[in-house]
Amino acid sequence: MDNVWIDIKEQLKATLPDHAFNTWFEPIGFIGHTDNELVLEVPNQFFYEWIESHYKNQITNTAQTLTGNNINIKYTVALEKKATIETTDIIYSNKRSNSYKANLNKRYSFSNFIEGPNNQFARAAALAVASSPGQQTFNPLLIYGGVGLGKTHLLHAIGGYIIEEKESAKIIIATSEKFTLDFISSIQKNKTIDFSKTYRKADVLLIDDIQFFQKKEQTQEQFFHTFNDLYQHGKQIVMTADRLPSEMNGLTDRLLSRFESGLVVDIQPPDFETRVAILMEKAEQNGLDLPYDTVEFMATHIKSSVRELESTIIRLLAYSSLSNREIDFNLVKTVVRERLGNGAPIDISATDIVKRVAEATKIDEKDIVSSSRRRPIAEARQISIYLCREIMGTSLMAIGMHFGGRDHTTILHACRNIEKKIKIDKRISYLVRSLQQDLTFSLI
Ligand code: ADP
Ligand code: MG
Repeated sequence: MDNVWIDIKEQLKATLPDHAFNTWFEPIGFIGHTDNELVLEVPNQFFYEWIESHYKNQITNTAQTLTGNNINIKYTVALEKKATIETTDIIYSNKRSNSYKANLNKRYSFSNFIEGPNNQFARAAALAVASSPGQQTFNPLLIYGGVGLGKTHLLHAIGGYIIEEKESAKIIIATSEKFTLDFISSIQKNKTIDFSKTYRKADVLLIDDIQFFQKKEQTQEQFFHTFNDLYQHGKQIVMTADRLPSEMNGLTDRLLSRFESGLVVDIQPPDFETRVAILMEKAEQNGLDLPYDTVEFMATHIKSSVRELESTIIRLLAYSSLSNREIDFNLVKTVVRERLGNGAPIDISATDIVKRVAEATKIDEKDIVSSSRRRPIAEARQISIYLCREIMGTSLMAIGMHFGGRDHTTILHACRNIEKKIKIDKRISYLVRSLQQDLTFSLI
C-alpha cells in the first residue's frame, strides 16, 4: 500500500500523453493512506476540479486494479499556493509573518516578464522604481495600456522585487476597487480613521486599475489625501490604468494632475516576435514542447494580448488532455479557431493573398503583379486573382487595379481558367484548396 501512489502514477504515465501526465500528475503530492483511502495534495482548487472531472475514473480504476480494493481518493489543496493574484486584502509584510506572499503573486516577476519593443520602457521604469522606491522623478509611476498586456504583472513584480531586497518593506497592493470597497466599509463601520491609517502605513503603495476611481468622488478625495500623505513622506506610489488618465471621465482635476505628475509609461500589444517569445516561454512553463510552426501559427493569429496567448496555451493543454490527443497542427488550428471566434476582424488584403501565393509557388511577389507572361508567373497570378475573387469577393475592376491595371475581362478570364483547372489538374486543385484554407482561416 505504501507504494500504491507510485504504482498508480506509473500506470497513468504509460496510458496518458506525456504532456497530460506532466501537467496533471507530476505536481500531485502524496500525503498518506489508510487501507482504503489515499490522500493526495494538489496545487490548487482548479487542479482538483480538473482531476475530478477528467481523471477520476482512471485513477480509481487503476487503484482498484492494483490493490484489489475499492480505494477512496481524497484531495487536499496545498496551502501556500492557495493565494492568487485576485486577493487584494491589504496585507503588508513584516519580518515575522511572510504575509505579503498572500498578496503578491510570485508568478509575476521581472525574470519571467518577456521584454519586447512594446513593453521595454514600462519594464525599465518598473525596475527602476523597484530598485530605488520613492525617488522623486519616477513618483508616482503610472503604467497604462490595454487589457492583458502585463500591467498587473509589472505591478506585482515591483512589489516582489522590493520585498526581496528589503524584507521589512511595507507593501500595500490593491486594486482601486478594493480601495473603494475598503473605504465604503470603513464608513459603514465608522472606521474611516483606521482606513486611512492602514493605507498610510505603506512604504510602497501599488494600486491596480485606477480607472475604477472614475466618477467616485468621495473615494477620489480619500485617495487624494492618501496619495499626498505618502508622497510627502517620500513613499513610492505605482498605479496602473487601462488608458491615459487624461482620457478618463469623472476624475477631479487635482487628482488627474497628481496622476500625471511623475512618470507615465505605456504598454502596447506585443509584436510578432514578442508573441513568439511569449508563447515559447509559456509553453515551456507548462511543460509543453510545441513544434515551431505551430507557435508561429498561433503568434500570427492571436494578436490582441498576452493573456490571450497564455490562455491559448492553457486551452491547448486542456483540449489535448480532454480528448487524449497529442498536440499537433490540427489541434492547434482547432483551438486557435475557437479562440478567435466569429467576431474577429477581417483583415486580409490582396497584398496578403499575393504574398501567400508567392510563398507557396516560390515566385516573386513583384512578378505576380507584373505583366510577365511566363507560364509559372502567369499561373501564380491567375491563382492570386482567383483567390481575391473567392475570398474577398472583390469586384473584378478592383482586382484588376491591384494586378497592374488589368481590365475586368482579363480578370474574369483568369478566374474562369483557374476554376476549370481545379477540376482537371490535381496539382492546381491541391494548391488552390490549401491556399484557400490557409487564407480563409486567417479571416475567421
Ligand atoms: P493586465 O493587467 O495588463 O490586464 P496582466 O498583467 O494580468 O495584464 O497579464 C495577463 C497575463 O499575461 C498574465 O498571466 C501575465 O503574467 C501575462 N503577461 C503579460 N505580459 C507578459 C510578458 N511581457 N511576459 C510574460 N507574461 C506576460
Ligand atoms: Mg490587470
